[in-house]
Amino acid sequence: MYTFQEIRGNKSLTEQLKAVVSEGKASHAYLFLGGAGAGKRLIANTFAKALQCEGERQKPCGSCRSCQSFDHKNHPDVIYFQALEKPPKYTIEDVRKQIVETVDLKPFQYEKKIYIIEKADTLNVQAQNALLKTLEEPPAHVMFLLLAERAEAFLPTILSRVVTMKIRPLSEETVAEYLMGTGLSVEESHTLAAYSQGRIGQALELMEDDVFREMRQDILGKLEALPSMNEGEAYLMAKELEAYKSDLRFLDIMELWYRDLLTAKSLREERYLIQKDKKEAIFRGANEPAEKLAKKAEAVRKARIRLSQNANFRLTLEVMLMDLKEN
Ligand SMILES: [Zn+2]
Repeated sequence: MYTFQEIRGNKSLTEQLKAVVSEGKASHAYLFLGGAGAGKRLIANTFAKALQCEGERQKPCGSCRSCQSFDHKNHPDVIYFQALEKPPKYTIEDVRKQIVETVDLKPFQYEKKIYIIEKADTLNVQAQNALLKTLEEPPAHVMFLLLAERAEAFLPTILSRVVTMKIRPLSEETVAEYLMGTGLSVEESHTLAAYSQGRIGQALELMEDDVFREMRQDILGKLEALPSMNEGEAYLMAKELEAYKSDLRFLDIMELWYRDLLTAKSLREERYLIQKDKKEAIFRGANEPAEKLAKKAEAVRKARIRLSQNANFRLTLEVMLMDLKEN
């Protein structure tokens, strides 16, 4: 529970944090940047726990008074910033009440008082400005750990006051190994790892996500049926896909499908496939020439780009499906 050993990959970042802990020379504010499910929470919490640990050798030790209260989620000097409004959305009042008005108070029991701000990139400009004043002249006993997905959302003045720590995505192999360690089958582990973009948290979320599983079955069924459809049926499919307009993960599913078809085509061996659970369908689909398959993969990529530029959804999909249908 929150130890440096639990952190996968990101070796140099982990070593850096350990050094900060052992040398006792922490900055006042750190920003942990990484995609959803990349491990921001694990890393920031482990760092906070280690900073507060009273153990002699390895920090966090897991057994001192500080570590125990941290693990019981009632550490007096680790403060989790919260949105008090409903639905949860940070306001300038949250910053005033929870940070500005409390920051000068001494820690209760330990040397440091650590504020953890998740989703810090959702603080609006006013809230960031309120926080900035504290970041500019922080009391000596205070530290801030900010967690965020996007650096662009911050005022440059905030970014200049924090030490930025980028959390890197892991290799698919590392994510798959992790998933197998949780008891998931080899096939499923590799499939989920491929969709996770190197983020264990993302993979774990997909594992529990029935909507995603159903979407995957639906999309793969459609892709397999597509080559034998007539134009009218393909247009109808574009209409059906409008159900996924707000969840573009269906494009990930499509891209991975063609990636596997190409793999099956060029390497002809099952062990290289990612979606091993679909191997029969993949080898059936891999009968086409490699250039055609590459073009289809390209059509999906193009559609993704067009949609990111706010192109018309239905029209974009119609164009894409016509390209995918072509033999
Ligand atoms: Zn400890």
